[in-house]
Amino acid sequence: MYKKIILGAFMMLTVLSAKPNIMILATGGTIAGQASSANATTGYKAGALGVDVLLKAVPELKNIANISTEQIANIDSSNMNDEIWLKLAKKVNQLMNNGNIDGIVITHGTDTMEETAYFLNLVTKGSKPVVLVGAMRPATATSADGPKNLYNAVALAGSKNALNRGVMVAMNDKIYAARDVTKTHTLNVETFKAPNAGEIGYIVDGKAVFNHTVTKEHTRNTPFDVSSLMSLPKVDIIYTYSNDGSQVASEAFVKAGAKGLVVAGSGAGSIHENSKNYLIKLLKEKKVFVVKSSRVGSGLVPISKEELNQGFISANDLNPQKARVLLMLALTKTKDPRQIAKYFEYY
Ligand code: ASP
Repeated sequence: MYKKIILGAFMMLTVLSAKPNIMILATGGTIAGQASSANATTGYKAGALGVDVLLKAVPELKNIANISTEQIANIDSSNMNDEIWLKLAKKVNQLMNNGNIDGIVITHGTDTMEETAYFLNLVTKGSKPVVLVGAMRPATATSADGPKNLYNAVALAGSKNALNRGVMVAMNDKIYAARDVTKTHTLNVETFKAPNAGEIGYIVDGKAVFNHTVTKEHTRNTPFDVSSLMSLPKVDIIYTYSNDGSQVASEAFVKAGAKGLVVAGSGAGSIHENSKNYLIKLLKEKKVFVVKSSRVGSGLVPISKEELNQGFISANDLNPQKARVLLMLALTKTKDPRQIAKYFEYY
């Protein structure tokens, strides 16, 4: 009888104190960056250190999680490509189905973190927390932000509270939804913002607190499936400006195989007539799908009846680099512009 009680109490304690099993997938970035001096926060090499070095800088991690690691790549994220995206997505989906893993952290450069996060938000299938994290100062800098960010990301990925929230970004003590987050400052540690939606929560002393739920569909509730894909449709971005000459770029992109173009329009998505007339011609000849976004950084892009008839699609409130991600995935599913427009409303 006593034996049973003691055994029961022991099992309960084990369950209560069980640490989550977190897999860290490392891809490089400034968090793994190495500079020639502790004062240097520019001119360093991003993606120089292996994930084991990053872990050594945060010995406290072993108090909050059982960690395993895999080095997926070690690059400056400005060089991110479809091959790594597909590898990462397939790996995350494997881990979603692995009963021994509770959460996934991805270390990543900050330059294109928002694009990778949104891509994974649309193609990974599961409810486990997936958290992207990086740093603005290299690992060798005085007051490097990487170690604290990594600690927060692991704490978030291990939190039961973080289940079913889609892919998240944890930077500078804040939690952002993948769809909303964007980098807004070239160098400052407080660079990530969600201009249309705000952050969804924050992390204090290893505890994740959520203030908002994510309303757009993600992960299991999207139709996008990369399990059998070896490549992605080519979509490029053109930018409008005074005396716009980007029709030359559009022509070159299409010649090079672009199936879609995203326009970083001015204001609420306006496109200089030089460029727009050429895009209308492309749409008429059904050469390409064109999504109107804005270079402004926040807000919705409306679309007129005339533009709808011409075949233009609104990016909703996605910035150009994220509209590109969704258009690429949309083109793996359909060639119907009305269906693509629906995707831009839902995701
Ligand atoms: N260029 C770096 C990268 O994106 C910047 C950073 O990680 O903060 O890899």
